[in-house]
Amino acid sequence: MTQDADIIVVGGGLAGVAAAVGLARAGHQVIHLAPPAPPDRRTSALMMPSVDFLRSAGLIDAPRELGHALTAIRIIDATPRLIRAPETLFDAEEVGLSAFGWNFGNAALLARFQQAAPPHGLETRNQAVTAWQRDGALGVVTLGDGSTLRAPLIVGADGKKSLIRTAAGIAAREHQFAEAALVCDLDLGRPIGGTSIEFHYPHGPFTLVPAGGNRANLVWIDEQAKLRGIQAGGPEALLVSLHERSQRLFGTMTLASPSFVFPLSTLTVDKAGRDGVALVGESAHAFPPIGAQGLNLGLRDVSDLLAALQAVDQGDPEWGIAASLDYAARRAGDLARTGGMVDTLFRSLLADMLPSQALRAGGLWALKLLPPLRRQAFAIGMGER
Ligand SMILES: Cc1cc2nc3c(=O)[nH]c(=O)nc-3n(C[C@H](O)[C@H](O)[C@H](O)COP(=O)(O)OP(=O)(O)OC[C@H]3O[C@@H](n4cnc5c(N)ncnc54)[C@H](O)[C@@H]3O)c2cc1C
Repeated sequence: MTQDADIIVVGGGLAGVAAAVGLARAGHQVIHLAPPAPPDRRTSALMMPSVDFLRSAGLIDAPRELGHALTAIRIIDATPRLIRAPETLFDAEEVGLSAFGWNFGNAALLARFQQAAPPHGLETRNQAVTAWQRDGALGVVTLGDGSTLRAPLIVGADGKKSLIRTAAGIAAREHQFAEAALVCDLDLGRPIGGTSIEFHYPHGPFTLVPAGGNRANLVWIDEQAKLRGIQAGGPEALLVSLHERSQRLFGTMTLASPSFVFPLSTLTVDKAGRDGVALVGESAHAFPPIGAQGLNLGLRDVSDLLAALQAVDQGDPEWGIAASLDYAARRAGDLARTGGMVDTLFRSLLADMLPSQALRAGGLWALKLLPPLRRQAFAIGMGER
């Protein structure tokens, strides 16, 4: 049987489009299966290493054309707990940077990635995959109309419920939290400049991310039932809660978009690739949006996939299988480290036990006072390798 492409990428979210366009720009023949999906109204804070990768892969040009610089992070412990953490400010200048990263609208980022597609080597179809199987050295995907496509390497960028992951028999563990994230755009009475502001409450952070001028993107993590209840009360009830949660520090706020609630879970996989399948983005990892790690990790997947393909000998008939194994080995450490860090951080934010409170408060005091520890925290948070 002949192959239809070198690589088939399944899924048209940010990770899938970054992978499809990045791989085609690197000279591979790619078919991208991207069925229509509802517009993504979220924003993504991408740290400097991710922004540098996007520029070097040709996926974006100047970040300021698309997004807003994140120059500082302020953490305010707003819990009524016995042992509270000090207010802490992390400034990018401390580590010699003009910004930690940039905040982008997901829809604008996706459109920019699509514009970066090369004139040849990438065929995009708005079709979904219904099955995957191996046929010798080739992976075979079945489409909704019953037709099939073959390629040595199949990239599963088909999100948390990944069909490619399940069909390839890659085990995943998912844990659903009682918490969810409410997101919306806000216009503030007082601008926050380039500072991202996190209020830590007992059920998670309430974070305002700079979106230029007086605008901020809100990511509010709290109990799902509570967030849905507030949302159901309509925009006026929501604004009352937002003023209260932000401690009225930003003057009169108005809603600049509808609000959306995203249930939260963590998802981890045994390995990110095998049998000629490579998983990128949320098909391989998901966690609550704290410390802005999700898409940053997804872009590191794409970066390592490009490196694995560069290392493999495409003269070997089984190169797709070799590339998937190499990719899994490259991703193992980063996935375990980042997943573990976000999980520990999230659970420590929610923990009501006194020892956890003391540890978290002590940790923030240490970060406030000890420059070497602060530098290390910056490096981990930014995903430096
Ligand atoms: C509230 C919130 C805020 C966040 N903020 C940040 C942040 O600031 N920084 C950051 O780095 N990350 C952030 N994240 C994480 C980030 O949004 C995700 O990591 C990223 O959007 C995942 O992209 P993806 O392409 O892997 O998955 P998805 O966006 O879920 O895309 C999967 C795609 O696959 C398609 N698909 C599914 N099944 C099939 C099939 N059978 N055939 C073909 N296609 C299929 C779907 O239609 C979909 O388009 C946030 C997440 C949330 C919930």
